[in-house]
Amino acid sequence: MLLEYVLLTIPVFMFIVKVQQWTGDYLVLAFFCLTSVVKGAVTWLYPRVIHPLTASKQRFPEKYRRVEEELKTVCDKVGFNMEKLWLEQSYDYDMHGNAALASDTILLGKPMLKQHADHVDEIVAIIAHELGHWKEYHVFWHCVVDTAYMVVFGCFLMLF
Ligand SMILES: [Zn+2]
Repeated sequence: MLLEYVLLTIPVFMFIVKVQQWTGDYLVLAFFCLTSVVKGAVTWLYPRVIHPLTASKQRFPEKYRRVEEELKTVCDKVGFNMEKLWLEQSYDYDMHGNAALASDTILLGKPMLKQHADHVDEIVAIIAHELGHWKEYHVFWHCVVDTAYMVVFGCFLMLF
């Protein structure tokens, strides 16, 4: 445990010292910018690389074919590629029905599908909500505002 801690801490500490040498008085601003870059990279990488490592795209089971057709209609209406609507594998004991937009991919949890299976309009409404986030570039704007906020805050900290 201690060895792992030391092995992880030393490179991070050396990196911080190097960044301080490179940036001088702009260290705080540099870390806010670095944090923003890392956040942007993770936001972009998550649906493309990280999420596929832990989940797999599922086809809609036959009994949910009507749901799939309704969702395709809604997706087509706003120009969203249905291939990017993932039915997410989840564990049987996972009771959390959820849907989310991850970058340009919409994730629909299987528990959500099961819980609302008799009410297709509810699933369509939930996915329409996520499509609204996608259509209005909310993930992108969230990153922009977050980055701007962090840079402004970093500049503010440099004043003191
Ligand atoms: Zn939302």
